[in-house]
Amino acid sequence: MGAAVSGPPLAGRTVFFPSMTDSGVRAVASAFRSVGIDAEPIPPSDDETLALGGRYSSGEECLPLKVTLGDILKLLAHGKVRPDRMALFMPTADGPCRFGQYGPYIKGVLRELGYGDVLVLSPTCSDGYDGIGEHASELVRASWRAMMGAELLDKLLLRVRPYEKEKGAADAAFKEALSGFCGAVESRGKGTAERMRRLKNGLARGRALLRAVPADFSVPRPLVGVVGEIFCRLNSFSNDDVVRKVEEAGGECWISGVSEWLWYTNAARIRMLKRFRKHLTLEMLGARLKWHLQHRDERELLSVFGDDFRGYEEAEDVNDILELAKPYLLPDGALGEMLLSVGKTVYLHRKGADGVLDINPFSCMNGIVSEAVYPRLSRDCDGLPVRVIYYDGTHADRRYELDIFMDLVREYSARKKTVRVLAPGTGKAATA
Ligand code: SF4
Repeated sequence: MGAAVSGPPLAGRTVFFPSMTDSGVRAVASAFRSVGIDAEPIPPSDDETLALGGRYSSGEECLPLKVTLGDILKLLAHGKVRPDRMALFMPTADGPCRFGQYGPYIKGVLRELGYGDVLVLSPTCSDGYDGIGEHASELVRASWRAMMGAELLDKLLLRVRPYEKEKGAADAAFKEALSGFCGAVESRGKGTAERMRRLKNGLARGRALLRAVPADFSVPRPLVGVVGEIFCRLNSFSNDDVVRKVEEAGGECWISGVSEWLWYTNAARIRMLKRFRKHLTLEMLGARLKWHLQHRDERELLSVFGDDFRGYEEAEDVNDILELAKPYLLPDGALGEMLLSVGKTVYLHRKGADGVLDINPFSCMNGIVSEAVYPRLSRDCDGLPVRVIYYDGTHADRRYELDIFMDLVREYSARKKTVRVLAPGTGKAATA
């Protein structure tokens, strides 16, 4: 092991990102590299991940902690990176959820195992921004655009893959599309407008690749919304690739992305400032400016996709989703993903979805609370099938469970009243 690196905390270090979403993390790492910070996604999880994560946790922690910790220890144990050359991007949050404990817990384990030189970066901690230094605001915007663009490619993949005529064609096109987009993210443009132009070009090429996949949209599949705890629903290793399993069972998925959570945190910040009567403060101005710029970037990137997502539009304002959750969860008594999952389920029903899966780590309080209100919500939504699934890393075979759910979905689809509106050439409305 060499001498510790001196200078600003990130100098000479590679920032590693826990692999919440394969594509988003790759794109955000590219955004970091675009401002001169070395960054990589953590390599994919496997059985060794769970073995190491399990060895250094008590069993009471949530699955995302076990997976993240196991991935980090695997990387260090195999000597792929020196601790004093490594930084770990580990977002945190205040509040009662165990998520806020991940960063301190991981730091403690690393220290105990002699990896104390690893820098754990948290977006809410000053040490991280000190390291990013002069690039902080540029990086926040570049990362948002990168994540948003990758999410749009993901969305198009889920739109095309269930209808591909040749198995594997959509995944192959997506791989190429994502690499091209990440290349565009990483390339250094002169200004923000120039960088946006490159991103849009990268997305347009990706879109063309995915649209060229031979597909038969003549018979629309039942649409299954996927909501739930953010890491578990998006990390295919943790949820045993549930999206692909739904597709294998004859469905099509619409999964809530990372952007929904980021919109939620922005909205929560503005609400908090209002509650403390900070309407006319620089903090409020900053929060509103961020909201405005992120919406503008989102609209620009989305414009590349024409009417590809007709019938799959996300809510224009995350507050609309929170409003839909209100009859079931008290707005100021419940916080976080449970609000989003419940509100989004009502939203998906209005968009004509045929069922909703709520994906959670075993013992996650978000899933437990949402599960308690789903029976009433389902009754209010014409009997929409809603199923909560918990994952604990044991990779149990859930095909039977999913098959039963898909039977309910098909039965609901045959009698539902909501008409889906789709783009021409991508299927008729499922029911009239
Ligand atoms: S959201 Fe659920 S899984 Fe995530 S830290 Fe909180 S309780 Fe654990």
